[in-house]
Amino acid sequence: MQCPGCKTEVDDKATGCPTCGARRGYFMDRRGRVGGKLKVWGGIAAVLIIGIGVFIAPMLYTWPINDTVIWLLGIFVFVMLLAAAQFIFYLVRGRVWYPPEGWQG
Ligand SMILES: [Zn+2]
Repeated sequence: MQCPGCKTEVDDKATGCPTCGARRGYFMDRRGRVGGKLKVWGGIAAVLIIGIGVFIAPMLYTWPINDTVIWLLGIFVFVMLLAAAQFIFYLVRGRVWYPPEGWQG
């Protein structure tokens, strides 16, 4: 496999290019850090835990279940499904190249 930045030949399993510092990972977070497979699974786990938690919490505190609550839960489930779909997309897509840290442009 060739590094798209400097055309150096790197191992298929490499997480970056030793020559120019280009990085390979499953996604990039807002701080510009490239995440590995473990972080993707961590994200899926977080979605599951928060998702289950939101459905258990009303049972513990006996919130009034009215139309507003049902709407909010519906919107919440939609957002959680989008988040889960994004993480699953990262896994299916596999590693992609990202520019070196501190790269501007
Ligand atoms: Zn390179």
